[in-house]
Amino acid sequence: NRRFLLCRRPQGAPVPDDFRLVEEPVPAAPAGGFVIRNHFASLDPAQRGWMDDVPSYMPPIPLGDPVRATTVGVVHNSDNPDFAPGQWVLGLNALEDYSVAMPGGFTSVIDVAHVDSPSRFLSAMGAVGLTAYFGLLEVGKPQPGETLLVSGAAGAVGSMVGQIGKIKGCRVVGIAGGADKCRRLIEHYGFDAAIDYHGRSVTELAASIAQEAPQGADIVFENVGGDVLDAELMNLAMRARIVLCGLISEYNAPEKHGARNLWQVLVKRATMTGMLIADYVPRFAEGGAEIARWMAEGRLRVDEDVQVGLENAYDAFMRLFSGANTGKLVLKIV
Ligand code: NDP
Repeated sequence: NRRFLLCRRPQGAPVPDDFRLVEEPVPAAPAGGFVIRNHFASLDPAQRGWMDDVPSYMPPIPLGDPVRATTVGVVHNSDNPDFAPGQWVLGLNALEDYSVAMPGGFTSVIDVAHVDSPSRFLSAMGAVGLTAYFGLLEVGKPQPGETLLVSGAAGAVGSMVGQIGKIKGCRVVGIAGGADKCRRLIEHYGFDAAIDYHGRSVTELAASIAQEAPQGADIVFENVGGDVLDAELMNLAMRARIVLCGLISEYNAPEKHGARNLWQVLVKRATMTGMLIADYVPRFAEGGAEIARWMAEGRLRVDEDVQVGLENAYDAFMRLFSGANTGKLVLKIV
């Protein structure tokens, strides 16, 4: 059982020496529990947060433990009749070949018969797709004709948010890094406009947003924070809704510099609401069904960036921070 351990808390950007790949015997099923052979692991920006010993919605990953990750896999051996060997399951486990699991919490049996890959339960039908779905629809509350501004727009969550915004009749403006990603936003995901943030000051970026959203943004779906958020705040429509989903530009920053243009929230009587996908677990089936329907109708594209091999976990994870990933980053555990 190869396990990818966190052995030191990263200072700023993680480095390879913060982790160690070890080999241990395959565990036995505990009383009432079961062991999963993991096939795919989700690599998420949130894992960077779980490596820090700071107050959060979950305790930090203990040093010496494998890096916590959502995985899909097959029950390998079991002491629980609800989780029989051979069944596919989804759960919050870790970057390792085999995970010991107990029923309850987030662990569930999944039906992989109707998907092209079990990894879909980490992307379209997983936390990422459902974050886009519930974050936009429940917190952003898009109305036809409104302008939706999305940061991290070419990423897993952002690309789905923009497309769902189009389905709901919004004008969708995306912000992403580089000309290729901006082209992809328009040609592949159907955004109305795309803005490249690379090498741009807050003032320059704010001016580009103003060009594409002259009446201001009614909804801001925030994945990035920092300078990008500052530029967006200068372009709010009256009573704008800001969905605070993530702040990836600050995850590796030892000193967070935060949003400096918050006064615009007051000027525009805007609301800024934090959303956490864990709050929507009881509604996953409902959101997943609608996402699957939109995909089947050809209205929603969900891409995956599948990297292979547990031994490549570090390099794969860092793709999230260099922007190398094209679509939902998944590690195939072989
Ligand atoms: P993505 O697929 O969007 O990958 C991360 C992307 O972030 C990169 O491709 C890169 O795109 C961009 N990025 C990385 N570093 C920076 C930086 N310094 N400045 C600006 N952009 C940067 O990942 P996810 O879709 O999984 O996650 C997107 C966001 O959603 C994250 O903030 C994450 O924490 C959040 N999230 C929140 C959830 C919740 O429940 N609240 C649940 C799931 C995700 P580019 O090349 O354009 O820079």
